[in-house]
Parts: sequence; C-alpha cells; structure tokens
Amino acid sequence: MGLSTAKLRRIIAAGAGLCLCAAFPLLAQVLGAEFRAGAARVVITPELNRHGPVYMAGFGNNRVATGVHDDLYSRCLALSVTGSQPVVLCGVDSIGLFTDDVERIRTEVRKRSAPREPNVVVASTHDHEAPDTMGLWGPAQGRSGINEAYNEFVVERVARAAADALRHMKPATLTLAQAHPSELDLLIHDDRPPETHDAGVIVMRLTDRHGNTIATLVNWANHPETLGSKNTLITADYPHYLCTQLEQSLDGVAVFLNGAVGGMQSPLGAEVTNPLTGKPSPDNSFYKAELIGRRVADIAASAIRNGEKAKADRIEFHEQKIEIPIANKGFQLAAQADLYKGCKKTTATGATTTPVGFVRISAGGSVELEIALVPGELYPELSVGGIQRYPGADFPDSPMEPAIKKLMSAQYRMLVGLADDEIGYIIPKAEWDEKPPYLQNATKEWYGEVNSVGPEAAPRIVSALEQMLKPGAAPAKDAH
Ligand SMILES: [Zn+2]
Repeated sequence: MGLSTAKLRRIIAAGAGLCLCAAFPLLAQVLGAEFRAGAARVVITPELNRHGPVYMAGFGNNRVATGVHDDLYSRCLALSVTGSQPVVLCGVDSIGLFTDDVERIRTEVRKRSAPREPNVVVASTHDHEAPDTMGLWGPAQGRSGINEAYNEFVVERVARAAADALRHMKPATLTLAQAHPSELDLLIHDDRPPETHDAGVIVMRLTDRHGNTIATLVNWANHPETLGSKNTLITADYPHYLCTQLEQSLDGVAVFLNGAVGGMQSPLGAEVTNPLTGKPSPDNSFYKAELIGRRVADIAASAIRNGEKAKADRIEFHEQKIEIPIANKGFQLAAQADLYKGCKKTTATGATTTPVGFVRISAGGSVELEIALVPGELYPELSVGGIQRYPGADFPDSPMEPAIKKLMSAQYRMLVGLADDEIGYIIPKAEWDEKPPYLQNATKEWYGEVNSVGPEAAPRIVSALEQMLKPGAAPAKDAH
C-alpha cells in the first residue's frame, strides 16, 4: 500500500536528499540502501623547474630527476551507501606520504565536500622513481630531499582527485574477484628468509546502471622499483602499465593499492620473461616494468570479468591512532636534522603516532570485503602467516603475531600497505635481528631493521587490528 519506493525516493530527492536519510536511518532502510561509486584521477607529476631539483626517492642520496617518462597520478575511488559517510580510497604514485600530509589532504577534502564528512584513505604505491616526499633521499646524508612546494602540490592534487570522485558518485554495482596463479609469485624476489609472498591479486569493480565501468581497484604486493637506482626519469614504474592497461581494457579509472611489500618484495632479482618469446627481460628496464604491470592487469581483468556481484548495503570505516616507540637511531637523527620538514612529528616520549584501520563492505548482513589499512611496509608473513623462529633472532621467545588476513571474515580480503602513513618496515618481533649472531647463522646483517621504527611496530599494529576486526568490537564510523 501507499507510496512506491521510486516515488518515496523522488519525494526525498526533492526534499533534503541524503541529509534526510542520514537523519533517519530507518527511512534509508525502508528505501533500501543505495550503493554509489565515483572515481577520478589527477596528475601529480612534478614540474622539474618549479619543483626542482627533484630528488628521486627510494635508493641512495642525490639522484636528481632529468626528465619524465610517464605521468604520476593520484587515482581515487569514492564509495557510499545511503545514510552513511562515504569512504574514498586513493592510490598515489609516491614513495610515501607521512600522516601529517594525509591529515592535510583529509581536511581539504572535507572542506571541498561539505556537508558530507568523507573518510579518506591515502595509500602511496611506494614508487621508487618518484620525488622524495619523505626527506630521506636529499642531496647528501643529513639534508632533506623534500621540496615543500611539491608536497603542497601533492596534497592539493590528491584532495582534488578525492573530491572529484565524491562529486561523480552515482548508483553502482559492486563486483569482486581474486586470483593467485603461481606466475604472480615469479614476479617477486624475496631476499630475506622466510621466502613468503602475499601475491594474490584482489579486484573490485564498480559499474554504473548501463554496465559501464566507473572504476577497477586492484590490490597486489610488490615494490615499484623495477627501474632500479640508476634511472633518472620520473615514472610510476609497473603501476603505470598496470593502470593504463586496465583503463584501456575495462574503461573507467584503475586504482592500484599496494599490499604487504616488506621483507623484501621486489621485482629486482626476479627473472621476468616475455610470455610470447620466453626471453627474460633486462634488469632495470621499462620493458620489465611493462611486462609486470601488463601481466598483473591481465590477470586482474580476466578474474573480474568472471567476478561475483554483491548487493552492497553497508560500508564501515574504522581507524585508531596508535603510538610506536622510535627505537631506530637513524630515524631519531633524521628527525633532529629536520629531514621530514614538519611532515612527521614525534611525541614528547620519542614515539610516532600512526593510524591503523579497516574498511568493511557488507551485503544483506554478510561481510563481502575487508580492507586492512596498515601504515607501512608489512612483512608478508604478518599478512598471510608463516613467521619463523630462526637461531640468531633478538627476541627468540616473542609471541608470534596472528596473520592479519586470517583475522578477517570476508571472502575477499585486501591488505593495503603505506595506508595513511609510511613508518617503514613492519617486522615480526620474533624475526627482529639487529644483533649478531644473525638469522640462520648468517655472517652478515639482514636488510630490514635499518628502515624500521623498531621491534614494537608489528605487535602494536597487529594487536590494534585484532581488536578492531573482532566482530562487534568496532564502533564503526557509519550512520546505521
Ligand atoms: Zn620499501
């Protein structure tokens, strides 16, 4: 009896629209929650004169950019359900953005999209062929590589992409898929035991009422450093090929969110062959980056073409700020030398405050997708399991952290690294090893600890996620 859903919808649209639904969640329930999605991409390539000299990030000091091979982007996907706060997921071609810059982006997005209060996730792809936005790779040791005008430019552009994605939201259908052919592991070289990868590709596609792609979001884990330490041309590395290939084959905006890239997940040292010729690609080449990006894109595209549709009717976002003591002497010195240029503050006790969070999408009461948001480079055994006790470990009796993906309940489980901060490597405490003897009785120190805040990073981050992911534990920030 009475009004049809369509009629009710029209009456509400004529009135206060979303505001009414937000004020009366019951009304949203009567109408059936409408799932909406929007996407946008904005170029964040530095201008070599205006932002120069551009110090390239990720390897040694004083690698000055001499040109641009391909544009850097911020690509954002906005999602919402009637009556709840939207969530925006941005993948940014950057080595890493500290949480203070992320907060600036969030403030700017909220200003531009008032009265909505979107929750914004900014995940750097960890591009090693992009400008130094963290200050660690300047002209010499002890001198910052940050160009403040470029960091400001990135903040403004990422905010613009997020606000554009929000503005373009329209009714959407969600499709999910995942794939893990063994060839994905061959694109990754791991030079520290245990040899573990979190190499499955998890894909989310949003289509409009006509079946056109709004966006395709891909989550995979590998360092974008294929070009190596000698390249001086700005490039997004393999994510450039991954995203452009997906945008060509599926249309819409392709958002890439990197995963558990620590310990070490790298194309350097991986033998990547051309599937047509069987020939290996040369190291440090654009050709190798192209083979990796296109292969991952093809696997993602064919998975999502056969993906599962979900009638998403609930989105939750939760975030908690935690403190981690900075035990790393190099990081302490970097802060003293003002390398971070105010983008990374420490507490009075010498700790860093960093966000840990998750996004959860449900349909009809069933959890379809969970996205763990981790503020740095997680060792993959902390994502998928497989922590080892080796002779030589500094904390041999330390409890093993539970694997984050095993704490989730959804069928589709993403883990996003460098989400809303970049604190460096997050190493299982039981594998922490600064003092000799070294793991597996190695004569040389393993690489990792030098780029980690300290042994407390993993236990504190995983424990925060464990608490938040417990069913019913999170006071989720949505309006239902
Ligand atoms: Zn790294």
